[in-house]
Amino acid sequence: MSFFETIERYRDFDFADAIGRAGEADIARALSAERPGPEDFLALLSPAAEGRLEDMARKSQEITLRQFGRVIQLYAPLYISNYCVNECAYCGFRQGTQIPRMKLTMEEIEREARIIAATGIRHILVLTGESRRESPVSYIGESIELLREHFSSVSAEVYPVDEPEYAELVASGLDGLTIYQETYDENVYDALHRGPKRDYRWRLDAPERACAAHVRTVGVGALLGLADWRRDAFLTGLHAAWLQDRFPEIEVSVSLPRLQPQEGHYTSPHEVGDKELVQIMCAFRLFIPRAGITVSTRERGYMRDNLVGLGVTRMSAGSHTEVGGYAQGPRTTGQFEIADHRSVEEVSAMIYSRGYQPVFKDWQNL
Ligand code: SF4
Repeated sequence: MSFFETIERYRDFDFADAIGRAGEADIARALSAERPGPEDFLALLSPAAEGRLEDMARKSQEITLRQFGRVIQLYAPLYISNYCVNECAYCGFRQGTQIPRMKLTMEEIEREARIIAATGIRHILVLTGESRRESPVSYIGESIELLREHFSSVSAEVYPVDEPEYAELVASGLDGLTIYQETYDENVYDALHRGPKRDYRWRLDAPERACAAHVRTVGVGALLGLADWRRDAFLTGLHAAWLQDRFPEIEVSVSLPRLQPQEGHYTSPHEVGDKELVQIMCAFRLFIPRAGITVSTRERGYMRDNLVGLGVTRMSAGSHTEVGGYAQGPRTTGQFEIADHRSVEEVSAMIYSRGYQPVFKDWQNL
C-alpha cells in the first residue's frame, strides 16, 4: 500500500470546481471540526477561506502552542556537492547551467561543520545535487558519520534511494530525511523534469522507503508555484497525514517553500502571495496538528518573523546554499537566492522578541 493509491483516488477529481464551490458554511464547519477531514482541509485552502484568515490564524496558534509550546527549533543546511544529472527547469544546480561544480572533501566538510557548530546549531541538514556517480551513497554516508561528531541530529536532502540504502544511511547516523515531491501534479512534474528524477513514482514512494528503513523524522512538501498551489498544498497535507497514519512512530513534518529566483530565471506561473502562504500554513496546522512545519531562509525576514506563532516549528538560520559557502564564501552559485541573510544570533533574538525560545538541540543521536 502506497500513498500513490491515495493520489490515484484524486486523479479525476475536479479541484477547481470543489475549491470554487466551498462557501462560508464549509469554512465554518472546518473551523469548528474537532478533527478536520480532507473536505474541510480543501475548504480551508479555498479562496472563500481568505475572509476567515484571522480565525484560522487564531486556531492555528492555539493548536501549535498546545502541541509544541513556545519553541522554534533551529537548523542549518550544508551543501556538500552541486553535481547534478537532472534538468529541473526551476533549479540553479541543473545539469545544463554553466556554474562551477564542486564536491567537498571530508576535510572541507569538517571545516564547514566546525563553523556551523560554533554558532550553536546542533541540527544539520546535509544536501547534494542528484548525481550517484559524484555523490554516491557511500560518500553521503561517510559525510553523515563525520557530521554526527559535531551535531546531535543529522538529516539529509538527497536523491531518492532504495530501502537498503536508506538503512545504510541510518546506520551511518542519519536520523531524518527531507524529500520534496516538487509538485504532485504528474503532468506538470513530467514537463518540468529531465533525467532520473523524472520518475514520479520513485520519488513519491521515497519517504515510505525511508520510514521502512527506520529514519526518525521525515519531511515532505511541494515547491509552491510550480503548479496549482491549492492542489499541491492539499496533496502535501494528505501525504503527511498518510505517513503519520502508516508510521505512527515517525515524526512527520511539512515544508512550504515558494519558488525563488535562481540561475536560469524560471518564473512561477502560479505565484503564491504572502497572505496565501499564511493561509496554507494555518490550513496545514488545522488538518495535521501534530506535524512539524518548516520555514527556510528562502522567505524574507519580515515574513519569517510574522510566521512565528502561526504554526511554524522549525527554521533554518545563518544559511548558505553554495557548496563550501560557510568557510569560503560564495565560490559557486547557490541553489536558490536566500532572502533572509540574518545570522543565527539575529534569528534567535527575533524569536525571543516574539515570546518564543529558539531550540538548538532537542535530540541526541546515540
Ligand atoms: S532540484 Fe535537485 S535534482 Fe533538480 S536540478 Fe536541482 S539539484 Fe538537481
